[in-house]
Amino acid sequence: MTTPDRALLEALHRDHLGLSDGAVATYIPELAKADPDAFGLALCTAAGEVLTVGDHDAPFTIQSVSKPFVYGMALDDHGRDAVLARVGVEPTGDAFNSIITLDERSKRPHNPMVNAGAIAVAALTPGAGPTERLDHLLAAMARFTGHRVAVDVSVFMSERSTGHRNRAIAHLMLNFGMVEASIDEALDLYFQQCAMLVTARDLAVMAGTLANWGVNPLTGERALAPAHVRDVLSVMYTCGMYDAAGQWAHDVGLPAKSGVGGGLIAVAPGRFGLAIYAPRLDAHGHSVRGVAVCRALSQRLGLHLFEPR
Ligand code: GLU
Repeated sequence: MTTPDRALLEALHRDHLGLSDGAVATYIPELAKADPDAFGLALCTAAGEVLTVGDHDAPFTIQSVSKPFVYGMALDDHGRDAVLARVGVEPTGDAFNSIITLDERSKRPHNPMVNAGAIAVAALTPGAGPTERLDHLLAAMARFTGHRVAVDVSVFMSERSTGHRNRAIAHLMLNFGMVEASIDEALDLYFQQCAMLVTARDLAVMAGTLANWGVNPLTGERALAPAHVRDVLSVMYTCGMYDAAGQWAHDVGLPAKSGVGGGLIAVAPGRFGLAIYAPRLDAHGHSVRGVAVCRALSQRLGLHLFEPR
């Protein structure tokens, strides 16, 4: 099996620098300030080797790339059965912010990668109050990144004051009895989780931790139980790319997660985590360059999980 090296990463960066399709997210007003041309790549192997190219140390908000990690945290906190009782693992085929598939017959949001499921997962975070809960979440994230991350207050406030759709989703879930916690607090925590500041390098280490079955390859610290890594990678594979998840699984064949801040991660289990930062998004809310880089790397190295070997 070919191991990705710096020359390959540099070639991927060079090959996709000219790709300027898509647009920076603006529905969260503060995200519109992102540099549309920023482009960073980072890769972290299960053995702890880190390769970086371009804007790998530019900070941006993690947005939905946080979802698999917070889901993992909930699995470690409460166990698989308790979490499955609150959130399913079925793909929706709908957009990330869909309200359509929430109705009173569905006992739980479909999966933890769409907003409804992620808000329900955030609501499970233990702690005596909002500060303790945020602290619990940041401590869990620090095990994945290897250092404490900050929350971008401007992005948090921006989404908090304009996130009416997420508020509607949360209130519908409250109405249907899908969540019990104080819904405004759960929303605040979800918005804070989405506003955590990371770099492409951070995301690569986080993805590399999943590739290394839950042990951070740089610090040696366990961030997630191996059985829960299996669960997290499964929902990333089937639901991580929202309404493009099927096509992605077919073409790229790796568990992945995107965020509207421009981050994208893909995991080659047992091998490495890859992260791309490039804020121009396609219609699904995925980084255009990120998707193209993953497709190219998967093809070049034959990474598809079901590639005949
Ligand atoms: N905070 C964003 C939202 O809830 C995350 C969406 C995403 O990154 O896909 O709309």
